[in-house]
Amino acid sequence: MKPAIVVYKALLPTELRHKLDEHFSVTAFDELSSATYPAFLQALQNAEGLLGAGGKIDADLLDKAPCLRAASTISVGYDNFDVAEMTRRGIVLMNTPTVLTETVADTLMGLVLATARRMTELDAWIRAGGWKESITPPYYGHDVHHKTLGILGMGRIGTALAQRAHFGFGMPILYHSRSRHQEAETRFSARYCDLDTLLGQADFVCIILPLTQQTHHLIGREQLKKMKPGAMLINAGRGPIIDEKALITALQDGTLSAAGLDVFEQEPLPADSPLMTLPNVVLLPHIGSATHETRYGMTACAVDNLIAALHGNVKENCVNPEALKK
Ligand code: NAP
Repeated sequence: MKPAIVVYKALLPTELRHKLDEHFSVTAFDELSSATYPAFLQALQNAEGLLGAGGKIDADLLDKAPCLRAASTISVGYDNFDVAEMTRRGIVLMNTPTVLTETVADTLMGLVLATARRMTELDAWIRAGGWKESITPPYYGHDVHHKTLGILGMGRIGTALAQRAHFGFGMPILYHSRSRHQEAETRFSARYCDLDTLLGQADFVCIILPLTQQTHHLIGREQLKKMKPGAMLINAGRGPIIDEKALITALQDGTLSAAGLDVFEQEPLPADSPLMTLPNVVLLPHIGSATHETRYGMTACAVDNLIAALHGNVKENCVNPEALKK
């Protein structure tokens, strides 16, 4: 008998669905809503595998999936999973690193440019009928090329961002990570520094860290005050890495000149968020990896990951290899 799996993913490409069907008995949900949740929980009772993106996968949910052996997330980030609990139960967690690296680095560079050059603000201004004559200095932006870029998190995506900034924009690069990254130092002349030094010297601070207990609210009121005057903050890591209330205050009182955000403490961003009314913020709806090519590649990777995990053939992309030993 084929192992039962539950898929929660809208618009799974047909050929990838066929591939899953070859290996598994699939119960699929386009979305997890209050209407579909009871059926989702019902299907979890026999599921050996789980595949999807988002949702909170904690001990309570795992209790409802007593047969689960593997979960495959269509993302590189896995902060929505209780990994320790999964490992304790011998459940393998698979993710999709690498396939999205270049695309997310493009998004970050795009956010830097859009924020510095006020692209979305001026787009809205034209549409509102504001462009009647040549623009004057109040509408000017700031240069990106040759300014100092500070990268928080010199992992796969941080390194791809450094490559763009160094070769494409001639930017000196500072970075902060848990450890030194020799490749970035050699290839992009990136300079390792502590967080405060980076905040004090970078013209653009780009966050591309995972969300963990250590990075939650890593950037709060005190850190924002330490940023160089006129500096801009870009976040494509996870929303809660920044204390969003403190960020809003800093943008309102001029402590911070502008921000470019792909991620938020609450997603979708609530309609009454003060961020919606601030002109000096570029807002994106968590599109870091959201291109047709990359989302397809991520889904294909997640499908292969689940097949490997449930067939006892894990070679890569495993978040908690310790679970394999249980
Ligand atoms: P990665 O290769 O694992 O890189 C993560 C980097 O963060 C590493 O350099 C790591 O340091 C550093 N780091 C982790 N904890 C830290 C801490 N407490 N203090 C300082 N540095 C710390 O991951 P990646 O593939 O680049 O992805 C990074 C994150 O980007 C993901 O976890 C996800 O949250 C986010 N992301 C967002 C989107 C989006 O759509 N916006 C898309 C993809 C990814 P070491 O190198 O020293 O270990």
